[in-house]
Amino acid sequence: MKTKKKAPRRAEALRLYVADLGKAPVQRYAKVQKTRNRLIPIGNVDVDIEHLVERTFLCDRHRCIQWTPHDKKADAKPLIDRSCCSHYTVPVTDLDRDKVAEILPLVRKRLEKDHPLVLDESEPPYDVQDDFSFAMRERESGACQFVIYEKGLTSCAIHKTCLEEGLDPWVYKPLGCSLWPLAILDYEDDDGNDRMLLTIYARATEGLFESEPDGDSADESSFACLVDKSPDYDPMYRSCKEVIAHTFGDEFYRKLDVAAQKHLARA
Ligand code: SF4
Repeated sequence: MKTKKKAPRRAEALRLYVADLGKAPVQRYAKVQKTRNRLIPIGNVDVDIEHLVERTFLCDRHRCIQWTPHDKKADAKPLIDRSCCSHYTVPVTDLDRDKVAEILPLVRKRLEKDHPLVLDESEPPYDVQDDFSFAMRERESGACQFVIYEKGLTSCAIHKTCLEEGLDPWVYKPLGCSLWPLAILDYEDDDGNDRMLLTIYARATEGLFESEPDGDSADESSFACLVDKSPDYDPMYRSCKEVIAHTFGDEFYRKLDVAAQKHLARA
């Protein structure tokens, strides 16, 4: 009988070494978290327990912006806007563009009279980036052009339009906006399977994301909602229930809730 020839040990070690060097940060991170039992696998999605289950979160738009005058909210103007909508350049996919184009006539009614999208209806709401991808056009301040400031509160004109018109905001807002601070990354595991990691933009996960030349970063210290991890708030996954169910389905959310509750009961 012919015996199978084994690869020389040194060649095998070199192959593994080169493969390891070529791994993306998300592959390494997912592997470490898996080894530590810090992932909840649901279908082809791995949920990051540390950030989705053990961490609490509350989105409170009053905390993102400092206003003047401080006491008269009816006339308040934004002084310093540290909201996610002013911090990031928002990537826009083909699907996002179609949905925004659909709702734009209704959104225009909620924008200021001298807003560029109102003054010239042929104006596109996007800019083409150096790599030919699309990004939401920004105001001079750096905030997204759909940010509206009124009565001491900031809102998204698309979100507001949906609520007032009885439409689903998760369908019309760019997915990247709806998800934040959640992040979805795809990766290939050691067996060559395509998987997704559901985590968040935080200091601990910063190495997973490419830092942008325009200064965008995942640094959580910029956001009050990420700094404040009060135990009185819900776990991250529960605070983001609607968008998680919209993105992955109700059944996915139900499984996540069962697994997360088990984990929290053990902790
Ligand atoms: S589209 Fe809306 S949610 Fe997205 S960045 Fe602009 S204002 Fe914020």
